[in-house]
Amino acid sequence: MKAYKKFQEYLANELDSIRSAGLYKEERIIVSPQSVSIKLQSGQEVLNFCANNYLGLSDNKNLIDAAKKAMDSHGYGMSSVRFICGTQDLHKQLETTISRFFGTEDAILYAACFDANGGVFEPLLDENDAIISDALNHASIIDGVRLCKAVRYRYANADMNDLEQQLQAAQKQRFRLIVTDGVFSMDGNVAPLDKIYELAKKYDAMVMVDESHSAGVVGKTGRGTTEQFNLRGEIEIITGTFGKAFGGAIGGFTTGKKEIIAMLRQRSRPYLFSNSIPPAVAGAAIYTFNYLENSTVLQDKLHENTAYFIEKMKNAGFDIKPSQSAICAVMLYDAKLSQDVAKRLLEEGIYVTGFYYPVVPKGQARIRLQISAAHEREHLDKCIQAFIKTGKELDIIK
Ligand SMILES: *Cc1c(COP(=O)(O)O)cnc(C)c1O
Repeated sequence: MKAYKKFQEYLANELDSIRSAGLYKEERIIVSPQSVSIKLQSGQEVLNFCANNYLGLSDNKNLIDAAKKAMDSHGYGMSSVRFICGTQDLHKQLETTISRFFGTEDAILYAACFDANGGVFEPLLDENDAIISDALNHASIIDGVRLCKAVRYRYANADMNDLEQQLQAAQKQRFRLIVTDGVFSMDGNVAPLDKIYELAKKYDAMVMVDESHSAGVVGKTGRGTTEQFNLRGEIEIITGTFGKAFGGAIGGFTTGKKEIIAMLRQRSRPYLFSNSIPPAVAGAAIYTFNYLENSTVLQDKLHENTAYFIEKMKNAGFDIKPSQSAICAVMLYDAKLSQDVAKRLLEEGIYVTGFYYPVVPKGQARIRLQISAAHEREHLDKCIQAFIKTGKELDIIK
């Protein structure tokens, strides 16, 4: 009790300093399903431009039906990890489906991509080896690398000269693994996987891509960066999530070379010591991948929507980061301005988030929008009009 009193004071102080730095994260409460149009607890209905709901599947009726059917046939929960009694036919089917989708040899499921990344390095590499990681990689990759004893090298975001230098330095080690996000979520740029692959060949390294923001989005049929750069089957390790384009519930995976996946099943700690994904998630994910294998309607619409939106915003005079994904970063540079713009847009019925330091570098504040296949032209136009109105009011555009 006495111990907690001191700790309580300490936490209260820390929380206060987070607040006074203006960095305290508030959560806005939604009372409807995740969708293009969402209802807030305040009663306000707004158009949503900040979900990872790239294909508009979060409230898709067929996915919900597939989840319900799987629950009826296979129950609610597994009450077990995979290797004790947590493997159903649905889990094996989903792993096969994922491998087929990405053109890989095998796949392994996790509760989240955070776990896939947390559990991929330590079982495969040790202090004799090297991990060469992009500076803007996702937090889960950074944490995963920390859990592994391999020697760490870091290269500036998508900077191939720097990567080459790091690869030269890493020639001392036994095995080398280059790790990159497929799409970097704050800018929307795609990792130059073709050049990374060439450097990997030249310097005897393997490659891992986290396709969380790129699978379902990038590439003509949404297979991700390996499709975009014609490298299907060439990349040793791919990780990804069901939590973004593929319905947005929960769950992650690692897919790639079969011996790698076999070793992860033996030694990957988040796989061995955490529960199997529930049948409803497995059933809905099988449905989703099968659907996307047979139709590019959603991808086509997403690509069209994104091109339309970015062009209109540029024509209106906004400073947009070059993007090759469904992410559109509207650069405002000033942290307070990014918050003011987001607030004004909400009043106009447009839900977006302003990002500023430390989420993005100092002086690089922005509004990040995410386009969805579920957006109709009228939604995009309403958002663009609201931006133009706000931009003029706040002297961002003429
Ligand atoms: C979102 C994201 C993750 C985490 O995915 P979850 O399945 O939600 O844990 C991992 N890596 C990248 C690059 C991401 O964007």
